[in-house]
Amino acid sequence: MAIPEKFISELTERSDIVDVVSGYVRLNKRSGANLFGLCPFHSEKTASFSVNRDKQIYHCFGCGKGGGVINFIMEIENLSYPEAIAFLARRAGMQMPEETDSAESRRRARMFNLNRDAARFFYAQLAEPAGEAARAYIAQRGISGAMVKNFGLGAAPDSWDSLRKAMHEKGYTDQDLFDAGLVKRGKNGGFYDAFRNRLMFPVIDVQGRVIGFSGRILSGEGAKYINSPDTLVYDKGRNLFALNLAKKSKSGYIILSEGNIDVVSLHQAGFDSAVASLGTALTAEQARLISRYTNEVVIAYDNDGAGLKAAQKAIGIFEKLDVKVRILRMDGAKDPDEFIKRKGPEAFRKLIEESENQLDYRLGAVLRKYDLTQDEQKVDYVREAGELLAHIPDAVRREIYARRVAETAGVKAEVVANEVERRHRRLLSAGKKEEQRKLTQPERLVQPADRELRYEDPESAVAEEGLIRLLYLEPALIAAPGLPPPEDFSSAALGKIYGVLTGRIRAGGAVGADMLAGELKPGEMDLLVSLLQKPETLSRSRQSAADYIAKIEERKERRQGGTDLRALRDRLRQTKGYEG
Ligand code: ATP
Ligand code: MN
Repeated sequence: MAIPEKFISELTERSDIVDVVSGYVRLNKRSGANLFGLCPFHSEKTASFSVNRDKQIYHCFGCGKGGGVINFIMEIENLSYPEAIAFLARRAGMQMPEETDSAESRRRARMFNLNRDAARFFYAQLAEPAGEAARAYIAQRGISGAMVKNFGLGAAPDSWDSLRKAMHEKGYTDQDLFDAGLVKRGKNGGFYDAFRNRLMFPVIDVQGRVIGFSGRILSGEGAKYINSPDTLVYDKGRNLFALNLAKKSKSGYIILSEGNIDVVSLHQAGFDSAVASLGTALTAEQARLISRYTNEVVIAYDNDGAGLKAAQKAIGIFEKLDVKVRILRMDGAKDPDEFIKRKGPEAFRKLIEESENQLDYRLGAVLRKYDLTQDEQKVDYVREAGELLAHIPDAVRREIYARRVAETAGVKAEVVANEVERRHRRLLSAGKKEEQRKLTQPERLVQPADRELRYEDPESAVAEEGLIRLLYLEPALIAAPGLPPPEDFSSAALGKIYGVLTGRIRAGGAVGADMLAGELKPGEMDLLVSLLQKPETLSRSRQSAADYIAKIEERKERRQGGTDLRALRDRLRQTKGYEG
């Protein structure tokens, strides 16, 4: 690992997880060694987010997120492992060790520089003959010079190697360019520019670094957009186009649109809080990133079936984060760019102001279902609207809306309010029971929160989890005989964790969650921390390890349909007989 281990352990010693988490979550409610609070990673009403001071880990019994203090900062501040370490170092007043001795951070820094130089190259082309076509396109779309500058738009010339040559002159190699997704490799092994004859949009992260590019076609055939692939510094699902600009907006909300052109057009019209997801459907990470800057989102997706579907999905994602959502309905235009061109910025502003928030939107839909002149239907309307309002966490808002529903239905306000409160309490106690059940039965095999990591062979997975737990708590067990190779694990995710863990123990490294955070993906870290929650008696650790190993091997043979029972039995006897 790049950052010296000594530094990380000193840093984690000085960054008590309870103190760090307390900066984001109000912790109280003790239960054993755990402090509890409302999970910052999903929306909930009863505290199921636990922090353990002894183990220096956090774990949410609701959404399954977990890790050490470094993970927590990675997740909540949306930072990479080395960035999170730098963040905590600043907090703890510790001087970072020479960053340059990390091979990975050197590579990242080099890629940031290359991306910045490439963006400058594309921008400069706009003033050159090679930028003629892009210049004409910019004019045709009505994009102002101020916006070109603001977004750092540029031109990729209609050429196979102009970027490549220019970057070679600056000392970058083909490998550098390839790693950054700026060149592709041809059939004959040569390299050529990935972006040709396109209008270039640099993608800039919230820290102001160029992390990738989108290139829009200017004319002719081909994909409308080409986007940088995910690289060492670019993860499409965790970034948004123009968030670097939107985060500075004073508007109080963020406008989420689909297209890069829409974003430019919105900013030009004075809506400086517009962002777009990067050619992907909105991800939970992107929504969380947005929720760091605002608690209100205006969705301005394209006015078509796909846009409507995407908007509905986005509502669900933001709801979990307690972010208010308004949906714009742009009649007579296919997207925000066209709407503004046709009707002007003022009409768009009006659209935002008059747009329904999601609750109004849903209440409206409920209302349309019923004929309120019929008494029976009136009752059903109040019931269904009440069910909707019961989900509002805030009591004042519940009351306000209950009044409105009562008015609409022409019944007494108290009747609706009582109905809403009754349902609300029922929801709360159902939620509490569920949390309680999770807390009191932690040893049951719980499937990983990340669906992609689901266990296919639960019986083996229990043993695999157990073996990982034992090794984590007692690394000396690395010497236990018959320790299986990671490939013998039924769960690829557990195999990966086990591989990383045993690798570190063998290399003589420390095994705390914070040390493993650099090598495990977030979902894998969640899984590790959640399996560490389950009890494990260490008094008979060697025997337990032998039992787990035997179970893992037995299940493996069974999965492979192995029929050589005698060999299996011999092997089991061997491992079982080991008493140390
Ligand atoms: P325009 O206004 O000219 O249609 P746009 O930027 O709004 O341009 P859309 O077709 O609405 O483009 O697409 C929305 C976004 O989806 C684009 O900005 C881009 O990020 C992404 N995208 C579109 N087409 C592709 C493609 N072929 N490959 C990858 N990403 C694409
Ligand atoms: Mn569009």
